[in-house]
Amino acid sequence: MGDMANPTILTVDDDPAVSRAVARDVRRRYGERYRVVRAASADDALDAVREIKLRGEQLALVLADYRMPQMNGIEFLEAVMDLFPLARRVLLTAYADTGAAIDAINVVDLDHYLLKPWSPPEENLYPVIDGLLEAWLSAPDPAVSETRVVGHRWSAPSFAVRDFLTRNLVPYRWLQAEEPEGASLLTAAGLTAEDVPLVVTADGKSLVAPTESELATHVGLSTRPTSDFYDLVVVGAGPAGLGAAVYGASEGLRTVLVERQAAGGQAGQSSRIENYLGFPDGVSGAQLTDRARRQALRFGAEILSTREVVGLDAAGAGRVLRFGDGSTITAHSVVLATGVSYRRLDAPGLADFTGAGLFYGSATTEALSCRGEEVYIVGGANSAGQAAVHFSRHARRVHLLIRSGDLRRSMSHYLIQQLDAIENIEVHPWTEVAGGSGDDHLEQVVLRDARSGETHTVDCSWLFVFIGAEPRTEWLTGVVARDPRGFVLTGPDLLAGGHRPPGWTLPRDPYHLESSVPGVFAAGDVRADSVKRVASAVGEGAMAVSLVHRYLEAQ
Ligand SMILES: Cc1cc2nc3c(=O)[nH]c(=O)nc-3n(C[C@H](O)[C@H](O)[C@H](O)COP(=O)(O)OP(=O)(O)OC[C@H]3O[C@@H](n4cnc5c(N)ncnc54)[C@H](O)[C@@H]3O)c2cc1C
Repeated sequence: MGDMANPTILTVDDDPAVSRAVARDVRRRYGERYRVVRAASADDALDAVREIKLRGEQLALVLADYRMPQMNGIEFLEAVMDLFPLARRVLLTAYADTGAAIDAINVVDLDHYLLKPWSPPEENLYPVIDGLLEAWLSAPDPAVSETRVVGHRWSAPSFAVRDFLTRNLVPYRWLQAEEPEGASLLTAAGLTAEDVPLVVTADGKSLVAPTESELATHVGLSTRPTSDFYDLVVVGAGPAGLGAAVYGASEGLRTVLVERQAAGGQAGQSSRIENYLGFPDGVSGAQLTDRARRQALRFGAEILSTREVVGLDAAGAGRVLRFGDGSTITAHSVVLATGVSYRRLDAPGLADFTGAGLFYGSATTEALSCRGEEVYIVGGANSAGQAAVHFSRHARRVHLLIRSGDLRRSMSHYLIQQLDAIENIEVHPWTEVAGGSGDDHLEQVVLRDARSGETHTVDCSWLFVFIGAEPRTEWLTGVVARDPRGFVLTGPDLLAGGHRPPGWTLPRDPYHLESSVPGVFAAGDVRADSVKRVASAVGEGAMAVSLVHRYLEAQ
């Protein structure tokens, strides 16, 4: 919208005849390059200004009558200044009011006052407006065509909104409620700093503290299936799920991919994947996700966002998946690709600071906010190492806290070498987090020596946790066989003691990636004993689809 729409010239006068005359004269000369908006009252004009602000469009010039019943022209121009400080301001006055107009030059930094009537406009109106527009064009308020988020730096709900948009690859501009642009957007939406987060979409809609599904709908992500029956439902849109969707759809299966949060899964949160085949210079998780998502859509897969699957009913031939809101979707076959989630850091005092200084993953959302600050990262595996490298470009110093004596057993050799070469990264061996405290955000953490048990406290407002991961598969309890840690058992792993799994009725063994329920497959990190890598997840997604074909042919 923003950069497509012409900048606006707004005129406001409560006398209809004058109002029409100004707008007509202005439109005649400037109508091709500017949108001329005419208002018949100060209230209507302010509504128009607020809307222009929310839509991210530009206001170049305002011509306001001095004598208006609701508020005089000076008060009106003052209100406009709050939203568009750079718009040029002209007061229309009768001869008797010139004193007030002269005062206004100081009060609202008036650019000009015009005496009514102004004819002929060629002499009295256009030269003035030409000059003002020229000045405005040299320093305009920029048009904004992207979503804007207004919030507080340490507010967990504000973080959740930004994280959701970042992970769904929706470009947005982050504005703090205290900065002028943030404050003026709040004013334009009729809100105060207490009401954050405010999301203003590219087309000017304002959403106050939206839920993820509201956000998804407004930023153009699909949330509802177009059909209630599919050949294949893929649950989870990480690399395994995206892989399954690309292969399923490209091979002609009616495929829907259901994701509870954001496509990309863990890989989407990776700042740089260096070991994925075909990308010799590495690829960011966001880039890989964007490409995979577009590829899946191009082949005709549907992708539903912000839809969490909470139940699977395998009675009969159809496989019925239930969503959190009670609605269902049915398919001939299912690929479970729900991956794993970060384990929570379990130390006293920390729980309240999630999103307010304590973050799980989220390196890509927060890196810029940490410019010049001390950052603490917990974890000794590749994900923590990548995050340390990423943060080191912005933070003053990055502290990597690891429980063991060194990184060799848990991190790839290439990453250890990278860490060694970066001056502002410090690895703290034998160190665990024993607690945290702060006021409205995390301010200190207690660190414990894993050998001696001794503790000390450090100032810390940025703590990023990358410790191990667990599958969230409780919703499969009693339906699909899992190992004691919750990973889905498949293929040969189900044939303990040479017996097929309980309830298995087919005269064949489960296929390689097939779970204990025929037609329900598992791929990627959620599968027991899988290799926890992007390439293997994608490979398993593709392989699961070939097994789905085999399953469907035998039906
Ligand atoms: C920061 C980081 C860096 C990494 N770097 C590398 C690397 O450099 N190289 C490498 O090979 N590997 C790397 N990995 C590991 C790699 O990302 C994972 O092995 C891979 O993402 C696993 O893919 P997946 O599809 O099985 O699961 P995931 O990526 O975990 O995706 C699962 C998806 O399912 C969704 N989901 C879960 N439950 C439900 C439900 N009930 N309903 C709907 N949706 C659901 C989740 O929201 C998620 O999007 C990294 C991991 C992290 C976290």
